[in-house]
Amino acid sequence: MEYVHVKYIDSSGKESYESIQRASIKCPFCGVQMIPEFYFLCENNERGLSVFCQCTNPKCNHAFISEYKYWKDTYIFDKIAPNAAMERKQFSDIINSISPSFCEIYNQAYEAQQMNLSQICGVGYRKALEFLIKDYIMSSMEDEKKEGIKQKNLAKCIKEDISSQNVKAVAARATWLGNDETHYVRKWEDKDIRDLIGIIDLTIRWIESEIETKRLLEEMPEQ
Ligand SMILES: [Zn+2]
Repeated sequence: MEYVHVKYIDSSGKESYESIQRASIKCPFCGVQMIPEFYFLCENNERGLSVFCQCTNPKCNHAFISEYKYWKDTYIFDKIAPNAAMERKQFSDIINSISPSFCEIYNQAYEAQQMNLSQICGVGYRKALEFLIKDYIMSSMEDEKKEGIKQKNLAKCIKEDISSQNVKAVAARATWLGNDETHYVRKWEDKDIRDLIGIIDLTIRWIESEIETKRLLEEMPEQ
């Protein structure tokens, strides 16, 4: 096995070197198998080492982190570390409690969006929207009626089962744009994924206002 000495800063702040396997790695950016430049390392949480590397393919030269694990007195290549954790959107307590599924599906779509999977994320947002609206409707419904809502077409639910005019109006439009993300032909050609996200956001705000208002009126009935 070949080794390479890589610099690190020890606990007393002094520059030091650790030897690791000089492994050939498939670059996570260009896919070329190469032995990268190893610039610097530090210990990671799993008691292995994280090594800052750079692809040696001259057409690529991307930097990435690879992880090494301790094995038989030496550090051997384990895996390429995932890129920095993706951003997640935080929702209010109201939205979290009426539809945890919406929050999860929305964030999966958001992850796809951050990976530039623009054809996929719209479908995810459309699915998230369906959970948000149906869970919102079911949140003020007796249990025996809920099964019907789960089975029912979303547009029909919006038309027949939402009493708030504002929620109804924005949810309907969110659904129109959401459906555009799943169908072959777009109806709303001048609108795109940003408009869909904007309308979902607006739907969330109206749902929150509705629920907050309802709670306030329950707490403070007219004297
Ligand atoms: Zn590369």
